Parts: sequence; C-alpha cells; structure tokens
Amino acid sequence: MSDVQEQTVALDPELVDAIVERAQQLLPLGSLWAAEGGAARADSPADGGSDADAREALAELGRRLGEMYPYGDVRYIGQILKPPHPVAWAANAVTALINPNNHALDGGPATAHLEKEAVADLARMFGMPQHLGHLTSSGTIANLEALFVARELRPEGVVLSSEAAHYTHKRMCALLRMEHETVPQDEGGRMDVEALERRLEQGGVSLVVATLGTTSLGALDPVHRILELGRRYGVRVHVDAAYGGFHVLLAGDDPTVDPAPFRALPEADSIVVDPHKHGLQAFGCGSVLFADPSVGSLYLHDSPYTYFTSDELHLGEISLECSRPGAPAAAFWATTRVLELTSGGLGAQLRRSREAATRIAAGLAAGRSSRLVVEPELDIVCYYPAAERASEISRASDRAFDLLAERGWHVAKLTVDVDWLRRSGAGIEADAETVTVLRSCVMKPEHLGIVDEFVETVEEVFSGLV
Ligand SMILES: *Cc1c(COP(=O)(O)O)cnc(C)c1O
Repeated sequence: MSDVQEQTVALDPELVDAIVERAQQLLPLGSLWAAEGGAARADSPADGGSDADAREALAELGRRLGEMYPYGDVRYIGQILKPPHPVAWAANAVTALINPNNHALDGGPATAHLEKEAVADLARMFGMPQHLGHLTSSGTIANLEALFVARELRPEGVVLSSEAAHYTHKRMCALLRMEHETVPQDEGGRMDVEALERRLEQGGVSLVVATLGTTSLGALDPVHRILELGRRYGVRVHVDAAYGGFHVLLAGDDPTVDPAPFRALPEADSIVVDPHKHGLQAFGCGSVLFADPSVGSLYLHDSPYTYFTSDELHLGEISLECSRPGAPAAAFWATTRVLELTSGGLGAQLRRSREAATRIAAGLAAGRSSRLVVEPELDIVCYYPAAERASEISRASDRAFDLLAERGWHVAKLTVDVDWLRRSGAGIEADAETVTVLRSCVMKPEHLGIVDEFVETVEEVFSGLV
C-alpha cells in the first residue's frame, strides 16, 4: 500500500491529546491514571499504565492509521467502505464506555431494548407483518443463522444460490453439512429463474437463497419470481439483502429502481441486511430477520450463567453468538432517530448515490474508450477499457487502476468470467478465461458532485491505454 501512504494523513497529535483528555474525564480512570497531573504511577503498573504511555500508544496508532486508503474522501469510489454517520460513531463511543453485552438482559438491559426496537424498525421497513430477529456481527453470521434455521427445519434438502451470490453461502453450507448447488446467472448477473425452475422440478431442494443486490454488481435477483417458484415447489426462500436491503426505501419512489423484488420481501422466510454497509454504521453490525417468530425455538439451549433476570426474551436465546456488544445496537438505534428508515430519511441519501451511479454509468457508456459490464441496478458500477482481447482488457484495467490512484481516484477491481461477459453482447476475443474490470461502489451522496470529473478522468486514462 506504499502508493497510497502519501495521500493519507495520520491522526493529528492534538486530536490524540484531546481524545486522551476526554477519556480521562469520562472513564473511571482514577485507578488507571494518577489523579493528579497525569503523572505515571510507576509504583503500581497493574493499575493500567501511565498517562505518557497512553499518549504515546495513541500517537503511534495515529501514525499507523495513516497507512490507509482515504475511505471518507469523495474520490474514494471503490469498495463497500465509508465512515459511519457521526451520530453512529458518537453513540457507539458513548455506549462502549459502559460496554454492555447484549447476550442477556442482565448484561445490557437498555441496549437489548434498543436492539429490539431497531430490529423492529428494520422489519417495518421491509413490510414484514411479524418477525423475530436480532443484530449480528456481520452479514456472514446473519446468513449463517438463516441457513442454520433452514437446516433445522429441513435437514435433508439441497441449498441453491446463484453463481453471483456471496461466496460465504457455499462455505457456510459446508460448515453446516448442508448440500449446496449453484444456479447460473443471467447476462445481467441475476439468478436465472428458468434454470432455477428446471432444478426445482427435479426435487430435493430445501432452500433457495436470493440475493438482493449482489456484492459484485449490485444486481437484483428477481425475488418476486423466486418466491412464486418457492411457493409452487414447497421450498423455503431466504433473501440475502446484506448490500441492497436498505434500497427498499426507494422502491416505488425512484423510477430507476425496479420495485418488484423489493415489494415481495414481506413474503420471504428470512432476510439479512447489513447496517454496516448502507445503514451508515461502523463495521460489526449485520442483522437477520425471520418471518415466523416460532423459529426461535430452534435455538433452544440452556445457559447456566445467564437469563436469570427476567422472563422476557433474552437476545442470546435466539442467537448463535453468545457475547455481542450493545454499542452497535445503540449506534444504529440513534442513527435511525436522526435519519429515519423512510424514503425521505435514509432513502434520500440512497437516492443521491443511485443518481450518481446512473449518471456515471451513462457517462461511461457514452465514452469512446469505456464499456459498462452491465447497466447498474443499484449504485455499483463496473466498467472496463474498450480493448479487443480479454487479456488486453485485464492488463489495461490493472494499469488504469494504478493511474487513477496516481491522480487521487481510488477504485476497485473485479474478476469476471469471459464467457459471461461475452453474453452481454460485448464482442470480446476470449484469449483468457477471466477478465479484470474496474468496480466502483458509488455509496456516498457526495459522489453526485464529482460525476463529470470522474467520468472524464476515467475516459482520459482509458483512452491512453487502448
Ligand atoms: C457483504 C455481503 C455479505 C457478507 O457480509 P459481511 O457483513 O461482509 O460478512 C453477504 N452477502 C452479500 C450480498 C453481501 O454484499
């Protein structure tokens, strides 16, 4: 990462001092730092270290954090990464001072209640008439829980997910000893429903995983049609909306987003959405929701250490994880008080990044030297230099990635199957099995302000390479 170091700034030492001072005021540090003048208490090292060491440790951390891409900058237009909402950060920090554990109500009564409210808010956003759910440390763990519940209900069946589904589904199926098969994707990167139906006709399937917003392209599996097939063949349907779940706030409101797959969500058996992706939260905040609250009994276990303070549901009783921080729940709850889960709240932010993505896509599609992989359905845009051969495209993409970084623009890369790319009509010569293209998650509303500059820069860089 040496090429990015110069472009980032280490934490300001004054900021570090301010943080240390604030921590001294807020934390019960009487026993950690000397009460008077912050002098080191060399006579009692077990107390937690000296003030000087604390400052030095944080100052060094500040320098180390300089080795990072500028995720918060508007010119960072690469991976699924951005700083959390300021309120999320503040609520997380404040709650972490208490450090509650949302496993059981005795470990974090207030934050457990906040978690239940925040999860109910998510269920309302999806239009679920009833639900059972909780936050998780990630989308992967949330999906694991959905797969676990499916296996408990139907231990024998095969799990199907699309070629473009997140790679962890296959791995989690192996972990759970569930049989997994892949359904082909269509030329838009969505699950091929005709192929799905042919597989369902053969029988033996217990669960279909639909992806609402694939991680690579932001493609929308036709959830409405998959649910229809699921009902017809008596198969459970889980929707992995880790990335695109919050875009339900645009369904019917933003004419450029297909509302049909989102409107079908209340019919799904389970849904996963990651507040740490488009919900403006720090990493460590996924969620899973089940349509049938009675699946909670599948988690049944006895804990000799906890669950003694009340008969009310303890979140640990319906979670595969034991200890879970209360701070992310507080942070997500507080954020939704500032930016409600409505079309005019968080939806307004998503609408702007969607607009930025469609305008970037249109600009690149019109460019002489740029090609789009697919028309973006959400806010992820994938594009490549218009060369003839697969190997040339990959080489030019790699070079463009570096040249863009030199100019201060940070994008990401994606590897796609050459035969799949050729299906979308691109007349590419297949002299390699895969092609490297560039990928931009246009996740910040501020990206609307850089559309033209970005398109021009990409076009200029590409034109020098092909
Ligand atoms: C990101 C993502 C996941 C994995 O979630 P993590 O929070 O990274 O563990 C799963 N599915 C989809 C569709 C995703 O975009």
